[in-house]
Amino acid sequence: MDTIIIIIIILSILISIYQIPSIKGFVGEKLVSIILKSFIKDSGYLFNDYLFDMNNNSCQIDHILLTKKGIFIVETKNYSGVIYGYENSQKFYQYLNNGKIKNEFYSPLKQNETHINKIKKILNNNINVYGIVCFIKNNFKNKDIKNIVSIFTLKKYIKSFKNDCLTIDELNEYNDILLNNNESNFINNLKHIKRVKNKKNNINKLICPVCGANLILKKGNYGNFYGCQNYPNCLFTLKKE
Ligand SMILES: [Zn+2]
Repeated sequence: MDTIIIIIIILSILISIYQIPSIKGFVGEKLVSIILKSFIKDSGYLFNDYLFDMNNNSCQIDHILLTKKGIFIVETKNYSGVIYGYENSQKFYQYLNNGKIKNEFYSPLKQNETHINKIKKILNNNINVYGIVCFIKNNFKNKDIKNIVSIFTLKKYIKSFKNDCLTIDELNEYNDILLNNNESNFINNLKHIKRVKNKKNNINKLICPVCGANLILKKGNYGNFYGCQNYPNCLFTLKKE
């Protein structure tokens, strides 16, 4: 092979590694995928880093597990520190350095809700699709939320689903549909990462991530929030913290 081609390949691999938000996240996802694999020994399917809907606001799901018990959408978070959040809040909080540093991030439960709706739309609106959030380090402090687990309780939680609701034929059918819709490849994954970064920058600049119009501060019954200037054509909102 030509030396220049080899150099280009090595460079593109290096660039792609630096594009990945955190290698830590990658390790966490690997651990989770090993656990999820144990559920598909006899039947079922597992997708990791499933990417779809590229034309319309691309969407990536860490893991989709198809079993006779139902379909599980798993979002993996390998965050350090202590994590707090509530079932219906838009944001979760990460405390580092004994609480001296506070970061916020979009609720992974809400993230899962969006993913579940999209997957149901692709497969079948009447099937059971369950969302699970896995904080690898067991540092999520609100133990009341059943579908937020750690790497230690993930297996037990999925095992608590006892009843079969999908047949082998249905699993095969859904697997085929997911395979056909999976747009994950090197280029698309990079595009997706870039899109997520732009989206975050836009929200900081008060630009609507859906349609590009300005976000304006509005008064609501439950406090102030940012709404899109294009309302009612665009329904994007963001709670003001
Ligand atoms: Zn908008």
